[in-house]
Amino acid sequence: MNNKNYINKSWQDAKDGSTLKVENPFTEEIIAEVPNSSASDVDHAVSVAKAVWKDWKMMGSLEMRDLLREVAVKSRAHDREIASIITAESGKPLIECLDEIEWIASIFEYYSEIGRDQRGRVVAPVTPRSMSMVVKEAYGVVGCIVPWNYPLLLMAWKVAPALSAGNTVVVKPSEITPLSILHWMDVACDHLPEGILNIITGAGETGAALVEHPDTRVIAFTGSVETGKKIALMAAKQLKKTSLELGGNDPIIICDDVDIEIAAKGTAWGGLLNAGQVCTSLERVFVMESVADAFTEAVVEEARQVRLGDPMNGQTDMGPMASEMQLEKAESKVNTAKDEGARLLCGGGRPEQFEKGYFYSPTVFDQVTSEMEMMNVETFGPIIPIQKIKTLEEAIELTNNSQYGLGCNIYTNDMEKALTAADDIKAGSFWINDPLTDNEAAPFGGMKMSGGGRELGIEGLDEFREPKHILIDYQIRKKDYWFPYDLDEGRKT
Ligand code: NAD
Repeated sequence: MNNKNYINKSWQDAKDGSTLKVENPFTEEIIAEVPNSSASDVDHAVSVAKAVWKDWKMMGSLEMRDLLREVAVKSRAHDREIASIITAESGKPLIECLDEIEWIASIFEYYSEIGRDQRGRVVAPVTPRSMSMVVKEAYGVVGCIVPWNYPLLLMAWKVAPALSAGNTVVVKPSEITPLSILHWMDVACDHLPEGILNIITGAGETGAALVEHPDTRVIAFTGSVETGKKIALMAAKQLKKTSLELGGNDPIIICDDVDIEIAAKGTAWGGLLNAGQVCTSLERVFVMESVADAFTEAVVEEARQVRLGDPMNGQTDMGPMASEMQLEKAESKVNTAKDEGARLLCGGGRPEQFEKGYFYSPTVFDQVTSEMEMMNVETFGPIIPIQKIKTLEEAIELTNNSQYGLGCNIYTNDMEKALTAADDIKAGSFWINDPLTDNEAAPFGGMKMSGGGRELGIEGLDEFREPKHILIDYQIRKKDYWFPYDLDEGRKT
């Protein structure tokens, strides 16, 4: 890959010429360099977005719809090449990256339509012959800061609603995965009016410059709790709105009335998908005692069958982790779990068959207790810890005894159990018998330390619109409640 392919807009070129290297985690080779955008590059991108905002906001709804829909059409038309770039920079299996492209196309289609619907409401007027309209209007320039685990998807969750609400956007991809977004902009967004969607590449400092820029009115961020807190503090200095999608330590509760084989397959997939690098990965498994042994055995069997290999290969289930740092984090979490007394049932190290690539074997633990680190802090690796529970109430208590509140899953045929858990558990998503499945028409986001704000659905659109009350009197009339006051006469309105 030649970085020139990805740098086609003047404001993307870092003025001081510094660059960041992008590595393929399977081959461990540097595959491209991208500009390390400085604060002045960020300023340039934001100024461009600001200059065209009014034109974009005032564009007719059908024209805007057609432009956004065209993004979906072109994304699908280039799905294989964009997906291959995600795989090359992240190590995620190609099949999962192709799904990611289909999802982003679907998101652009969805928001191209709902952006022109529900623009506000009309409420009953306080005085006769007048009207009160509540109009939801765009903020202006939105800064979007994206992580590496779903680089296109988590970008689209922000960019599609932000644009369809009438904002203009500056995106900062993760320094680990900037190439797929750059290429997607080239091939799927080249018809959009110049300046409405801009990209800057860089690491944390570049992201911070976007947050601190006085002309970004909203910061939509997905990433770790640690970075989310920093962004919230920076934004608070300017009372800037943020939408924060942060980490989790999501549980799955396995009740004793289920098909153990299916529950084990679902748990293995939900814990190991994308090498466990999903914000809603299954990171705590609570299984009822009576089925625990059979279930654990089945999960171990599933984990052993996961095919590791070249992520470009259509038969690979799990590729390498996205970076050496992620691999080292997984190693450290597993070592801590062993030291704390968890029993390692499979995995627990780097697989021997690969000379290169940041691979980590699918790992399953049992004899896990709720005090252990992995049951309290996000693991973000292919690690499945299984803890026995006696009752549903215990599972609910353990689930809620967490700083996070992103998602929660349950397998049961007993609707009373499922819906009681859904009532009592603090989590932004609650999946019954279908782990980790999102719906672009329904909101996604976290409670507690997993964030604030919502993506997807009408709620995801409202993150990028602020309400304005427009009051209209049909005539210019003198009002009785104006000066001069006369308490004896009272109010006549
Ligand atoms: P990260 O917080 O390290 O980085 C995320 C983005 O923030 C990157 O683009 C990074 O360059 C930028 N950044 C870093 N420091 C910054 C700063 N000081 N100011 C502004 N921007 C800054 O996260 P990551 O390692 O890329 O992603 C993994 C994390 O993301 C995990 O914790 C995971 O749970 C979370 N995540 C959450 C969701 C969700 O929807 N809740 C989805 C996916 C991932």
